[in-house]
Amino acid sequence: MLKRSWTESANDAAGEFPLNNLPYGVFSTESLSPRCGVAIGEMILDVARLEKDGLTGTEDLLQNASWNKLMAAGPSVWSGLRQRLTDLLAEAASDRDVVEPLLVPMTDATLHMPLEVAEYTDFYAGKQHAQNVGTMFRGPENALPPNWLHIPIGYNGRASTVVVSGTDIRRPVGQTKAKDAEMPGFGPCKRLDIELEMGAIVGTPSTMGDPVTTTRAQEMIFGYVLLNDWSARDLQAWEYQPLGPFQAKAFATSISPWIVTRQALAPFAVDTPEREKELLPYLKADFPGNYDVTLSVEMNGHRISRTNMRELYYSAAQQLTHHASSGCAMRTGDLLGSGTISGPDPSSYGSLLEMTWGGENPLDLAGEPRTFIEDGDTLTLKGHAQGDGYRIGFGACTGTILPAPNFP
Ligand code: MN
Repeated sequence: MLKRSWTESANDAAGEFPLNNLPYGVFSTESLSPRCGVAIGEMILDVARLEKDGLTGTEDLLQNASWNKLMAAGPSVWSGLRQRLTDLLAEAASDRDVVEPLLVPMTDATLHMPLEVAEYTDFYAGKQHAQNVGTMFRGPENALPPNWLHIPIGYNGRASTVVVSGTDIRRPVGQTKAKDAEMPGFGPCKRLDIELEMGAIVGTPSTMGDPVTTTRAQEMIFGYVLLNDWSARDLQAWEYQPLGPFQAKAFATSISPWIVTRQALAPFAVDTPEREKELLPYLKADFPGNYDVTLSVEMNGHRISRTNMRELYYSAAQQLTHHASSGCAMRTGDLLGSGTISGPDPSSYGSLLEMTWGGENPLDLAGEPRTFIEDGDTLTLKGHAQGDGYRIGFGACTGTILPAPNFP
């Protein structure tokens, strides 16, 4: 059910930010420096100021231009703040006159990174994607690596180049496989791609040497964003063996501007798909760890794919449990990319590599045949969970490609 707010725009059944959502971002305006804000309808609530005024029930957790301090405070503090914000913004709230002056129209605000990303790990938990890419790179017999049904496979990525939606992305430069020449090529990427993913954000940390259970891992997760793992396929094909992705992924990762909390998504929890092989005990979970979130990809405003987060074979809690299983310490602000989320058919694939099957079957983009990303293209990810009379939206995750730099 829609929770009604006195902020009228929050009661729109098709809006992304009803009172049920309350996602966390960082914003600035001409007069306000970057600070923590909460989306409500078409407005942003200045919660940095709200905290200073003593109305949040927290102390000095919301005064930085990131949510990391609150994230480190743990689930009971997260619930307390969410409850307090819900009370302040509900239709029947008594404090409306003190809260209303702290609302800023979204159209007047610039959105920034909502968190300081501590470290970034990208998983490979979409089975259809792994199957598709494996078929293209190694043939249908060896498509799924033998470990895939047992391990949430991942690689350690770069936190330094995770950027907020709206940030332009420069086409990467790199080495590519030699065709007939003796030397490999070096120059602008020719097969630039997206990967449609969800990003899970770690709130509370774990200690080096201490593995975590799936139940504990679930409690450590603060929230989710949409994530585009930009990928240079020609660089990737040349460099990926034996140690996995490197420069093909290191140049940029975009995330949506609002962290949708695990609490806001709780009504949309679903089970992971049926196991094809029994998991080892440490990876088993007795709670539904996936979410029913409809996802789509647009290229220059034309929708080119539609899928759902529930396709993921491993939940974020299972990924996090595996990540910590060796004794690896997890930090507040760690970002876990889910892996590309592809559905069963081409209209639901999560990368251009798959949609065009390695560039062999161009897409029809309003009459124009298209394979990989060209300079000036804008790629946008969208996502929402559909409730009864309301939606939980993430805000778009978008990026426009700029030409490659002149290499010195
Ligand atoms: Mn990826």
